[in-house]
Amino acid sequence: MKILVAVKRVVDANIKVRVKTDQTGIELANVKMAINPFDEIAVEEAVRLKEAGTATEVVVVSAGTAQSQEVLRTALAIGADRAILVDTNEELQPLAVAKLLKAVIDKEQPQLVLLGKQAIDDDSNQTGQMLAALAGLPQATYAAKITVAEGRAVVAREVDGGEETLSLSLPAVVTTDLRLNEPRFVTLPNIMKAKKKPLDVTSPADLGVDVAPRLKTLKVAEPAKRSAGQKVPDVAALVEKLRNEAKVL
Ligand code: AMP
Repeated sequence: MKILVAVKRVVDANIKVRVKTDQTGIELANVKMAINPFDEIAVEEAVRLKEAGTATEVVVVSAGTAQSQEVLRTALAIGADRAILVDTNEELQPLAVAKLLKAVIDKEQPQLVLLGKQAIDDDSNQTGQMLAALAGLPQATYAAKITVAEGRAVVAREVDGGEETLSLSLPAVVTTDLRLNEPRFVTLPNIMKAKKKPLDVTSPADLGVDVAPRLKTLKVAEPAKRSAGQKVPDVAALVEKLRNEAKVL
């Protein structure tokens, strides 16, 4: 079984993002970038399925600038076998990424396609769903557990107040949630080994995909500052303030 995993290069989750002064987007100059955390979980899951003998090959794919090779190398260091970069300097929106991934699926014919549930930069939570629709494949989002057997994937999904379990025929698209696994620590020898693994470069034109943006960002703004809290001496004073100042009682 071949598994295809989509990984995106995003601002590192530990960095506090800053809005550009002209409000056209987020400041990306000299900002630490990393593999999207949910995609790291997806790669870890694919590699575990390979280690368990369920999968035979793990292919990782990223769409973006040449710098996206960094996150592909991270995925290779976790244990993926080979990587594909869809090289473009265009701004990529979820629909464009889904179309590119659909073209890669057509070429690679994977049995399982794993994505993160969302990219932590745009928080779109759209690509996996759009890809499943475009490719005509069954989908399970927010996976907390994946078991593959006899041509099917059984996926426990995180839903409000509990878990829902789905059985999908393969090939299928699954998006990962936080509790699926804890990605391993990437060791130096594996980082060195990853440098020698194959990384193919293609382009949206090679894949026959038009990635022109469909949405226009009008403005990006910081959230409104919260005003400072107040300490009150007792419950009576709190009730008085809620009633007369906040007027919520
Ligand atoms: P989003 O719909 O933007 O929240 O992204 C959901 C998932 O789609 C991510 O966790 C990735 O697995 C995948 N994805 C989004 N953008 C890209 C990209 N440029 N390259 C590869 N995978 C991507």
